[in-house]
Amino acid sequence: MRGMSFDFSSQVLYIYLIMSYPSVHIKSFGCQMNKLDTALVSSALKSVGFNITESVKEADVVLINTCSVREHAEQRVFSHLGHLKHIKETRPDLIVVVFGCMAQRLGANLLGHEAVDIVCGPAQIPQITELVKKAIKEKQKQLVITEKIRQKTNDYQTDALEKFESTYGSKDKHIPGQARLPRGLSGGQAFVRVMRGCNNFCSYCIVPFVRGPEVSRPPAAIIGQIKKLAEAGVKQVTLLGQRVNAYKYTAGEKTYCLADLLEMASDINGIEWLRFVTNYPSEEFFGEILQVMADSPKVCNYLHIPAQSGSDKILHAMNRHYTAKQYLELLDKARAAVADIAIAGDFIVGFPGEIEEDFQATVELVRKARYKNCFIFKYSPRPGTTADKGLKDDVPIEVKKGRNTELLAEQETISGQLSRDFLGKEVKVLVEGPSKKPHLNSAVGEGRLQLVGRTATDYIVVFNGPTSLAGEFVRVKIIKTSPLTLFGELM
Ligand code: SAM
Ligand code: SF4
Repeated sequence: MRGMSFDFSSQVLYIYLIMSYPSVHIKSFGCQMNKLDTALVSSALKSVGFNITESVKEADVVLINTCSVREHAEQRVFSHLGHLKHIKETRPDLIVVVFGCMAQRLGANLLGHEAVDIVCGPAQIPQITELVKKAIKEKQKQLVITEKIRQKTNDYQTDALEKFESTYGSKDKHIPGQARLPRGLSGGQAFVRVMRGCNNFCSYCIVPFVRGPEVSRPPAAIIGQIKKLAEAGVKQVTLLGQRVNAYKYTAGEKTYCLADLLEMASDINGIEWLRFVTNYPSEEFFGEILQVMADSPKVCNYLHIPAQSGSDKILHAMNRHYTAKQYLELLDKARAAVADIAIAGDFIVGFPGEIEEDFQATVELVRKARYKNCFIFKYSPRPGTTADKGLKDDVPIEVKKGRNTELLAEQETISGQLSRDFLGKEVKVLVEGPSKKPHLNSAVGEGRLQLVGRTATDYIVVFNGPTSLAGEFVRVKIIKTSPLTLFGELM
């Protein structure tokens, strides 16, 4: 730990940095929740005069927003910190901030890392600008995390988070290149959190231990934020929650659920598409949500609903409260209510005790579910979770890799078939911006940069067009497909 006192030279540096607007670089790992937190922090820092830079070299302050869901994500942060430690040997005044889930999980241990100056938990992000200013001024290590993470946040902390969210969650029009926001927040789109934390305690999952108890935000705050985003030009809003379909808020006589939020947000002028992630497979409110999806042209016909496994034995060990049969019945119900709905899933392969028979049950479920796409992860034991404490990680890594590849191949066949149905059809696309890489196998513009966007059902569409279309809706005729991408021509 550096000493409390600050000398003349650090005061001069402080005055210099404040006068010259310090540059801040933010690196973000993890899910949409983290992307949203990164956008909020970036907006808060800009509002007090910091410049956001894409380059670590130019930065006076480097912030890393971290993820703890799998060990690999944490290893990547440590390798990044190793690089920053090296940079600090020649630039000792560089301030390094680690925030988010890993900061909450590792706390003081992370602060012990030579490169790190500030460790800040997800619930403390409203304090980040002050922490950074203090670090520049006083050159002192700081740790701000929640001590008892499973305790309900006090009113003061809740108010601070609400104020932070509604002030900075509606400030930027997320257009690529302008706001320099992280991937996923571009092209007239924004994320809005409707719930914090999680109470589900799936046995493998670290989220309840780093994001705290499940809390639904007040509908008035959420709708107010969406209105401001619409005024700033945002056309698509994605509502975020770990179990977004479990959203529940009681105000006076009325209890609001996600369907109410979607209905109220649909009435906002300027908002054209509404999405919500991630859904937990449960009957509660499911019918109401499907109804609003079927009724409102603004609610996108897309459902991300992770199954995690197709084996009832493994689902039970994961503390998921449904069977494979009940899960498939929910998908049937969704397809009956919304004819062209696209469904996506998540799976964990190699969970403790998963034998070949369990895995084949997962393959069978994937065949029956006919997902548009799914995300497949190899089980990663997370310290403190019940699976880690009580179950041996007994599936060898080679077997996990093999199952991952087999399940991906199964899904790829289905995705390929579903994509081919789009050949020759015209689709409406919200343009995100230039495609990150040239699609060499695309039907148009071999080797050239192209635009990328998504359909309402979340299909990725690549086509040639001017970058000025970012954030606009266009119509594209599909002339070629691959399992995960549709290629087309601008109409
Ligand atoms: N709340 C969401 C849900 O219930 O599906 C998603 C939470 S988690 C951030 C995203 C995905 O990571 C999960 O759906 C799961 O497939 C995967 N995941 C979570 N913990 C994991 C672990 N310990 N090992 C491997 N994958 C994991
Ligand atoms: Fe984790 Fe389960 Fe909560 Fe999703 S629902 S965040 S997987 S504990």
